[in-house]
Amino acid sequence: MSTRKKQILKVIILGDSGVGKTSLMHRYVNDKYSQQYKATIGADFLTKEVAIDNDTTATMQVWDTAGQERFQSLGVAFYRGADCCVLVYDVTNPKSFENIKSWRDEFLIHANVSSPETFPFVILGNKVDTKDSKKSVTLKAAQELSKSLGNIPLFQTSAKNSINVDSAFEEIARGALEQN
Ligand code: GDP
Ligand code: MG
Repeated sequence: MSTRKKQILKVIILGDSGVGKTSLMHRYVNDKYSQQYKATIGADFLTKEVAIDNDTTATMQVWDTAGQERFQSLGVAFYRGADCCVLVYDVTNPKSFENIKSWRDEFLIHANVSSPETFPFVILGNKVDTKDSKKSVTLKAAQELSKSLGNIPLFQTSAKNSINVDSAFEEIARGALEQN
């Protein structure tokens, strides 16, 4: 029996304000980067067609926050029906890294997913283009965190220089498809 899957993959991006969530989304969807995105501008989500195999595509909806993450007050509509949750920190901001786990918990509390243990998350350590090594979060620390949370796929990215963004979103799409 064929299990027909819906072709819309809802992906949400969480993480502290300023880590580069909006920049990553624009880099992936539009292949653009700008120093400043107005927090209040824009739709609830951007979409991008993703190829699944030779004759199948899906529409990925990437949901971004409009700055409400500062108050941890994202509405239920934001979380509802998510197929993959992307957790972003800034490699030069240890606090944003420490908060990854709380963002994951926040998601699990609000999204009400049927099976939290197998829900697909992806962690992105963004701004790897910067040379701010003093403050930076080590890859080793990030790998340990990913392992402790059940081997969440981890990518070190740069929205600015377009490093690893496409491969990260390929993994995100893969996770979302499995969940979907
Ligand atoms: P958000 O609050 O998580 O949505 O973060 P934004 O996408 O608005 O980015 C916050 C700031 O970090 C902006 O000034 C961006 O230009 C900058 N930024 C975002 N991504 C990168 C990156 O990959 N490298 C560097 N160096 N800066 C970035
Ligand atoms: Mg933003």
